[in-house]
Amino acid sequence: MERGEEEKIVIVGGGICGLATALALHRKGIESIVLERSENLRATGAAIIVQPNGWRALDQLGIASKLRQTALSIQSGQYITVKDGKKKDLPVGDVGELRCLKRTDLLNALAENLPADTVHLGCKVMSIKLDPSTSYPILQLQDGSVLMAKVVIGCDGVNSTIANILGLNSTRLFSTSVIRGFTNYETGHEFGGAFLVFSKDDVQLGLLPVTEKLVYWFVTRKQTSQDSKASKSQTLIKELTVEAMKDFPIHIMEMVKDSDVDSLHLTDLRFRAPWDLLGSNLRRGSVTLAGDAMHAMAPFLAQGGSASLEDAVVLARCLSQNQTMRVDEKQAKTMINVEAALDQYAKERKMRVFWLSLETFLIGTMLDTSTLLVKSLCIISLMVLFRDKIAHTRYDCGRL
Ligand SMILES: Cc1cc2nc3c(=O)[nH]c(=O)nc-3n(C[C@H](O)[C@H](O)[C@H](O)COP(=O)(O)OP(=O)(O)OC[C@H]3O[C@@H](n4cnc5c(N)ncnc54)[C@H](O)[C@@H]3O)c2cc1C
Repeated sequence: MERGEEEKIVIVGGGICGLATALALHRKGIESIVLERSENLRATGAAIIVQPNGWRALDQLGIASKLRQTALSIQSGQYITVKDGKKKDLPVGDVGELRCLKRTDLLNALAENLPADTVHLGCKVMSIKLDPSTSYPILQLQDGSVLMAKVVIGCDGVNSTIANILGLNSTRLFSTSVIRGFTNYETGHEFGGAFLVFSKDDVQLGLLPVTEKLVYWFVTRKQTSQDSKASKSQTLIKELTVEAMKDFPIHIMEMVKDSDVDSLHLTDLRFRAPWDLLGSNLRRGSVTLAGDAMHAMAPFLAQGGSASLEDAVVLARCLSQNQTMRVDEKQAKTMINVEAALDQYAKERKMRVFWLSLETFLIGTMLDTSTLLVKSLCIISLMVLFRDKIAHTRYDCGRL
């Protein structure tokens, strides 16, 4: 099936993946529009760790050099057991380029390189169906309008509406919650370029410097009965987190106490089961998925965002490679063989996101379970399948 250049590519969701996909398409000369339900670009979660595979994708998108100026390079890492002060090196130096970006910096860098009118804010997609006669996707928007698109790319995150049409099951929950935030040190912090993790029982605090003055930190712990109330009050998030830090080193507790309350966010952890990914062909008609909508994975490898950037590069490359020029007596037209392009994309991404999802699933289950047998099975599977712990950072999504 070939389609003409007037056809609109509609990206649902203006998060990291939606904006990156629009930018990747723009770099290849392909127009798209992004429908984002929020009234502004959402940078929830303070910061994001970007590993070498993510930097390779950002290089292809043409925004890496600007972003490098906004974030320190992380050179070393340590895991510290709070009870006895024992320290263990983390393999950070071996990973290669690792930086922690402010989410606003990343979203802005993506958005400001897009043509005006690409991003449509306040546009919530309520449902999607395929037109029975043309098979084109039809989007129902919250304001009552209906949009017939020629291609729909669902970048609408963990609770994706677009994923429904591909028959993917809903995402599932781990029993862990994460609190994330920033602390600003007026006169500079003491952490240099180190990624530190402090651990006590089932509470862990990780911190990474963003700049000489700004530190991003996250706390992982089991969900509590207060979480649903706390997720609506940043002051309560702070109180609960300070409380959870009471046996941690004093400078760590102070860091949480002095954090910027507006940056705090508490979230539960959702994931798409790896076997759901294997069982789906990731395309129905001219609808596909990218980012968390396709491969929501808990952040144990800090790879969800980088994998979303890879999706964007690969998807734009596949659509571009499947373009042909048609000349008739009136005009020249660029046609895209959409289905071939989306199949090529799905084929290229499926095993990459399957292995990432499987590794995070095994780590998450190992941390989640109280059953010794399950824990042991996860540990053995991780040792056998993921012996090289940083292999996932070496992936190269290739040229745009
Ligand atoms: C605690 C935590 C820490 C993380 N840390 C890291 C990390 O350090 N490194 C890393 O690489 N990844 C990390 N991740 C994962 C990363 O945040 C995600 O993979 C990434 O944000 C996915 O981007 P996305 O654009 O696919 O989804 P999202 O960022 O969720 O964006 C989806 C967008 O779609 C919009 N939307 C949703 N529904 C609709 C609709 N119906 N209509 C219109 N718009 C809609 C939303 O408003 C949103 O803007 C972390 C995740 C969590 C939960």
